[in-house]
Amino acid sequence: MLSSSTDKRESSSASIQIENVDKRYPETGNGPGMHALRGVSLTIARGEVVVIIGPSGSGKSTLLRSINALETIDSGKIVVNSETVTDQATNLPAFRARVGMVFQHFNLFLHMTALRNVVLPQVAVKRVPTAEAEVAAAKYLARVGMLDRAHAYPAQLSGGQQQRVAIARALAMQPQVMLFDEATSALDPETVGGILDLMRELANDGMTMAVVTHEMNFAREVADRIVFMDAGAIVEIGTPEQIFQNATSERTRRFVSLVGSA
Ligand code: ADP
Ligand code: MG
Repeated sequence: MLSSSTDKRESSSASIQIENVDKRYPETGNGPGMHALRGVSLTIARGEVVVIIGPSGSGKSTLLRSINALETIDSGKIVVNSETVTDQATNLPAFRARVGMVFQHFNLFLHMTALRNVVLPQVAVKRVPTAEAEVAAAKYLARVGMLDRAHAYPAQLSGGQQQRVAIARALAMQPQVMLFDEATSALDPETVGGILDLMRELANDGMTMAVVTHEMNFAREVADRIVFMDAGAIVEIGTPEQIFQNATSERTRRFVSLVGSA
């Protein structure tokens, strides 16, 4: 019998298509060049949740940043909902508005309240009228449990609360996909669970998600598929059961035995 996640993959078209992507960071005075992505190919279906794991420096952030066109790739192709990131004709601000990204360090504007942080991108990028953007901001702040702190500045909020605001800011743009890059890594242990719960809810609502995380229990529970990366390449892709219990690659087995038992 097919699992529900397999059904979901097969009944819907691809949302993110990554084809044979290479990315090199050039050599600088401070360091050597780095071949950060080597022939990476991955397709994420609409509504699918893919968790990307791998050691530090394996290219996970570079891959997410490339999907959001925050990095330019050297070769290959990235398509999000039939729009090709690398096409000259692609309007990058409009494109990024449809690809929400949540970072380890929140990246909120410190001189703006939570509400303004959620309003601003809607007005600046999508030209939503301010009054309308404020209604949407209140709705998404409520969604992440932060409406009562709408007028607080980031410095008055805990890390977990700032990350909730950052998630509301991304959701208010009504993205078609969400990318999470170690969204809980900078948080106090007691606030991690709440953010993971929010991400779980988004996944259950059918959001297409690519999630880089070290939270292996979350990966096990929420991922439709897990991607293991090492040294800029995808080593193995599989269901959580395959990756955690039955990995084919020795490198995958070694990595999950180190992090998976934590
Ligand atoms: P991960 O997120 O898996 O830790 P990254 O994608 O951040 O890995 O990095 C992949 C490799 O590229 C690493 O060797 C890293 O040092 C290098 N790298 C990342 N960003 C830059 C940059 N802006 N300039 C030069 N090298 C970089
Ligand atoms: Mg990273």
